Amino acid sequence: MSVKEQSRSLLTSKDVSITNPRLIVLSILLRKGDPLTIDQILKASRGKLAQSTVYRVINDLQKFGLISEFTNPENATVIELNKEDAKHHHHLFCKNCRRIIDIELDRELEDHIQSEVLSIQEQYSLSIDGHSLELLGLCNFCS
Ligand SMILES: [Zn+2]
Ligand SMILES: [Zn+2]
Repeated sequence: MSVKEQSRSLLTSKDVSITNPRLIVLSILLRKGDPLTIDQILKASRGKLAQSTVYRVINDLQKFGLISEFTNPENATVIELNKEDAKHHHHLFCKNCRRIIDIELDRELEDHIQSEVLSIQEQYSLSIDGHSLELLGLCNFCS
């Protein structure tokens, strides 16, 4: 299946309308394979999309559950395609090449964090939606 066809079927799977900007953004994410910042998506679209369009499309795709957003150490928003078996995970940010690598923590550690979060919630009367843990260092190419 071509990247364009894959993008099309992602939108079809969510029963939402197939528009050219949506196809372009999904194709860029599929082609690169790694999470990308909004700037990288803009650059990769080679002038085909205005910045406001990219923001709108990202918003839509997130509502459809096709992508997730997180922040990199430079505080830029990073967009990641949700894989079909999308699991909660963490990221390693490579200081050298800026690649972002998916990291899964040990199940027990995740459970432990989760129970900690619940008790913090209770103790401080907060409402917590999730947690993130960033690993900073070098990827296997750069280390
Ligand atoms: Zn690297
Ligand atoms: Zn990830």
